[in-house]
Amino acid sequence: MNVFVLNCGSSSVKFQIINTDLDLFETDADHMVAKGLIEKVGSKEAIFTFESVGQPPVKGVEPIADHREAILKIKKWMETKGTKIEGINSFDDIHAIGHRVVHGAEKFAKSVLIGDEVIKQLEECSDLAPLHNPANLKGIHAITEIFGDKIPQVGVFDTAFHSTMPEEAYMYAIPYDFYQKYRIRAYGFHGTSHRYVAYRYRKINKLPKEKVNVVILHLGNGCSITSVKNGESVFNSMGMTPIEGLIMGTRCGDIDTGIVEYLLKKEIGTFPEIMSILQKKSGMLGVSGVSNDMRDIEKAADEGNHRALLALKMFAYRAKRYIGSSLAEMNGADAIIFTAGIGENDTIIRKMICENMEALGIEFDEKLNDQCFKGKCMKISKEGSRIAVWVIPTNEELLLARDTVRIVKGATKEL
Ligand code: ADP
Repeated sequence: MNVFVLNCGSSSVKFQIINTDLDLFETDADHMVAKGLIEKVGSKEAIFTFESVGQPPVKGVEPIADHREAILKIKKWMETKGTKIEGINSFDDIHAIGHRVVHGAEKFAKSVLIGDEVIKQLEECSDLAPLHNPANLKGIHAITEIFGDKIPQVGVFDTAFHSTMPEEAYMYAIPYDFYQKYRIRAYGFHGTSHRYVAYRYRKINKLPKEKVNVVILHLGNGCSITSVKNGESVFNSMGMTPIEGLIMGTRCGDIDTGIVEYLLKKEIGTFPEIMSILQKKSGMLGVSGVSNDMRDIEKAADEGNHRALLALKMFAYRAKRYIGSSLAEMNGADAIIFTAGIGENDTIIRKMICENMEALGIEFDEKLNDQCFKGKCMKISKEGSRIAVWVIPTNEELLLARDTVRIVKGATKEL
């Protein structure tokens, strides 16, 4: 089956076309045949890049008014004579669409076939993710407007994997009726990535699902850590929104809420302005003053920039503390797994996080670590380390495609 995996942001549309089928899951023979990105949707200068495997990318700038026009632009590219995509001549060759949806609240613990009732429920949980869910819905509406109900659509949620967290992990210690009235609790994010990585670890090590006891660090622009016990998420460091937890590229992660009150008193800005600083100008960028990109920060630190080095130390320190709390919470684990842009490539950060943890049973192998980047999947701890350290590249789109196929075909067994 050809699955069109769609990730709609407020002004962006990202897609992949993945050829996959239930029979392929076990063999890992499923594969991506095309991908693309449209940025600045809603402007006169939208930027598009489309690429089918084995062909040079097609790039351009043109007005694209909304998500519907963006999808039509992709459709037109797919159907243009010069475009060669394996197994695809037109959008008619797409069998299903898988949407990345950020927030499923307590309503969606699993991926679902999208229909009117699901759309209604998604609209209801939009206020929990005002930046993301309305954009995801725009994608769903655009597809429905263009294709009607000709192509089945499936919603895959970032929060769903964490629906197994126990109450004591997801509740905040604020008046209980805030939870009852407003559903204020931690939901956790990056669930599709954490779930994919837990699944890969299980396959590589030939384990049944209930034998997967690992701590996963998804370190990209956004960063989160998940405790996986008996194959299920029991904790994720992001909370009700993705600002909580680890230090990120531009987000502060955990801070004392008293800081917000103090900044307001000092008239640093209005409440939305202060929130925007904590979301967009904090984290690695805020501390280093250099960049939100680890590569720039490491270069600056190497050249003697104190704030850059401090930012790296703070990033690693926070991650270490979270690993410690995950290990305490789960009474140990079999592995710590790194994934996403930083986790897969950044040998320096991995070393800073993993060194000096022998007392916990983590014996990190610096040589193996130095060999692991650019999509390599390998163990980077010493033979005999009680807790293994792994790097497993994530592939959220593949999991989205696989869930879409499963749901469309009515398969009941989860990955
Ligand atoms: P997103 O969360 O947007 O999916 P990614 O997982 O692609 O992001 O991670 C992007 C981040 O990964 C970059 O901002 C950068 O800090 C980091 N990164 C990517 N490549 C490298 C590298 N070779 N070395 C160090 N850090 C890297």
